[in-house]
Amino acid sequence: MTVEKPVVVPFFGLRPAPSASRPRDERPGIGGLAPDELAAWFRERGHPAYRGRQVLDAAWSGRQATFDDILTLPGPLRAELGAAFRFDTVEESEIRHTDGVLTEKAVHRLSDGLLVESVLMHYPARADSRERHTLCISSQAGCAVGCPFCATGELGMERDLETAEIVDQVRNAARRLVADEKHLTNVVYMGMGEPLLNLDRVLESIAALNDPKRFGLGARHITVSTSGVVPGIRRLTALGPQFTLAISLHAARNALRDVLVPLNRRWPVEEVVAAAREHAQVTGRRVTYEVTMIDGINDTDVDADAMADLLRGEHAHVNLIPMNAVAHTPWTGTPIPTVERFAERLRAAGIATTIRFNRGTEIGAACGQLAAEHAGQPTPIVVQRRREKLVAQSAAALRGERSTEPVPAGVGEP
Ligand code: SAH
Ligand code: SF4
Repeated sequence: MTVEKPVVVPFFGLRPAPSASRPRDERPGIGGLAPDELAAWFRERGHPAYRGRQVLDAAWSGRQATFDDILTLPGPLRAELGAAFRFDTVEESEIRHTDGVLTEKAVHRLSDGLLVESVLMHYPARADSRERHTLCISSQAGCAVGCPFCATGELGMERDLETAEIVDQVRNAARRLVADEKHLTNVVYMGMGEPLLNLDRVLESIAALNDPKRFGLGARHITVSTSGVVPGIRRLTALGPQFTLAISLHAARNALRDVLVPLNRRWPVEEVVAAAREHAQVTGRRVTYEVTMIDGINDTDVDADAMADLLRGEHAHVNLIPMNAVAHTPWTGTPIPTVERFAERLRAAGIATTIRFNRGTEIGAACGQLAAEHAGQPTPIVVQRRREKLVAQSAAALRGERSTEPVPAGVGEP
C-alpha cells in the first residue's frame, strides 16, 4: 500500500468560527432558486422573461462569480438583483491541496460565520476510464449523529444547510474546474452532516444539480450517503429511481453499531438493511455499503461473518475503507492485510467487495477535519475521558452488550 503524505499549503484569511458568529444573511441564494421562482420574480417586477434565463445561465455557467460579472444585464438590474439575492452563499473559501494536486479540500465560510467543507478529487484518465472530477459536499454544519470515529461527529450539530449553501459548494468547485476547462463529473453527499436529516433541502439541491437548465448532472453521477435514517430511506424509495444510495454500515452486530453509529439505537441494522433492500428492489439500483474499518474493533472474523450473513443475497456492493485517524479517539485504521482478510470472507459469501485504500479514505474522512481544527482544542482531560468512555463502550459491545446510552438529540423523524 502507498501511504500518501499530505502536502499542506498554509491557510490564510479565515477567522476561526466554531459556531455562528453573526446573524445569517436573509437574502436567498440564487443557486437555491428553482427556474419558476426566478421567472416569477422577474415577471412581478415587469422585466422580460429572457432576463431570468440570462441570470439562471450565468449563475450555473461557472464563468461568473457575482451579479456584476453578468455584463449582458443593465446596471440597475444587477443592483436590484444584488439587493434581493446573494449570488453566492459561500462567502469565502480556502483550499488546501493534498496528494500533490489530486485532492483539494475546501473550507467554506457561510454568512453567519459557520464553516463547512467540500473535497474535490481529480482522477486522471486511465486506459479503462475517462478523467473524473468528484466533489464531496456537506449537507449540514456539524452532525447530530455523533459517530465517534468522525471529525464532524466530534463537532456536534450546528445547523442544517440551506439549499443554496449545498449547491454553492458545487458551483464553487465548478468555477475552479471551468477555469481549467474541466467539468465536475460526480457529486457525493459524503461531507459534513447527515443528508437524510436535512432531506427536503438535500432533495432540492439534487433537483438543481440534476436539472438540465441548471447544473445538468445525471442522477447516476450523484451519490447520497446515510448513516441509516430509515424513514428517510423510505422517502427516497417512494421517489423512485434517482441517484445512488450509500449506507454507512460499519458493523452488522447491533451492540457494536450502537457505539459506532449512535442512531442505530433508534433504527437497528436489520431495519436499515431491510429499507435498503426495498430501495434496491423498487429502484433497480444497487446499494453501496460503506464500512470504515477500525483496528481491533469492527474488523474481526466474527464481524466479517456477521456482515456476510446480513448482506448475503442483497443487490449490494461493499466498500471497505480503513479509518482515517481522527484526534480524540483511541482508535486507528485497520491494517491492510486484515482488511483483505475481511474482504475475502465477504467475497466468499458472494458479496461484491472493494477495498478503498487512499482516495476512498479521503472522501468522507477528509470532511470535518479542517472545520474541527478551527473549532479549537478540547482540554486534555476532556479528550482522556472521551477515550476512556469509547474504550469501555466498545469493550462492552464486543461482549455483545447493547448500549444503554440514549439516542442522540436531534435524530428525529426527517
Ligand atoms: N452522514 C453520512 C454522510 C457523511 S459521512 C454518513 O455517515 O453516511 C461520509 C462517510 O465518511 C461515512 O461513510 C463515514 O463513515 C465516513 N467517515 C467518517 N469519518 C471517517 C474516518 N475518520 N475515516 C474514514 N471514514 C470516515
Ligand atoms: Fe454524522 Fe456521517 Fe459523521 Fe456519523 S459519519 S457523525 S452520520 S457525518
